[in-house]
Amino acid sequence: MKRKEVILTIDDAPSGDFRNKVDFLHSKNITGIFFFIGKKLKKDRYALKYAVEKGQVIGNHSYQHKHYSDLSIQRCKDDILEAHELITGTLAELKQPPCQYFRFPYGDKADYKYGRIFQSFKEAYSSRPLTKTGKIISQLKRKGKDHDYLKAKGDHKKMVIQEFLRQLGYLPLDHPSLKYDFYQPLRRDYDCSWTLDSMDWMLKRSLPGEQMTTEQKILRRFLMTNPPDGRGEIPGPYGMRFLGSSEVILVHDYDETHLTFQKIVNLLEGQHVKFVNPQVLTRDR
Ligand SMILES: [Zn+2]
Repeated sequence: MKRKEVILTIDDAPSGDFRNKVDFLHSKNITGIFFFIGKKLKKDRYALKYAVEKGQVIGNHSYQHKHYSDLSIQRCKDDILEAHELITGTLAELKQPPCQYFRFPYGDKADYKYGRIFQSFKEAYSSRPLTKTGKIISQLKRKGKDHDYLKAKGDHKKMVIQEFLRQLGYLPLDHPSLKYDFYQPLRRDYDCSWTLDSMDWMLKRSLPGEQMTTEQKILRRFLMTNPPDGRGEIPGPYGMRFLGSSEVILVHDYDETHLTFQKIVNLLEGQHVKFVNPQVLTRDR
């Protein structure tokens, strides 16, 4: 039987629970990509060393973890670079090659769509009316301009940031077995998108009395065909039940979700997936 391949990606590292997660994966011989937030890493630089020693792959998840749609091009570049220098500098001390993977906070590619990449520009910006972009759009509307103007600006901004990432040596997250149509445009970008979001952040927001049902909802997403996605509607079939493509799975390094993290990994093991070692993704380039 064909085994589904899975690339495990863990955002928002390092939390206080970080070393537990690294140990847990290490004990199972699973390699994931840990995406570090610069300002969190600065307070715990040994976390990165710990992950490298246990064979994990390191990614850059920005310095401040802000919505890049809300920042100027220069501020986006500064933010990427600040995290890049911290991470790559630490890797150099460990005699490791520079960081090659970047993931935007909230998947926000700086194009004024706030990460809602599977929605039209109009739908995406409408979801954020109180942001800087939302306010600019209402001003423009009053002047009789439509959102095409801002969309063009957003497309340009995205392109400039992509070029900056390319120059810094970042690579797309790509694997031949990623066959989803919706992933094809994403595999050309110099950042790491994902195919399946665990939505484990729901647990962080849920009240203590709701935590059991929230965790069940999270785990059920790995058993569903076409689980809903925060980025807009993904044309199905997709998800763990669909065997026609591999999966890039998004989970988070939160203090509160340690046990859920383990349950997710155990559930994937129970589905007999093959965890792809992300080190092979760049080996042949
Ligand atoms: Zn994040």
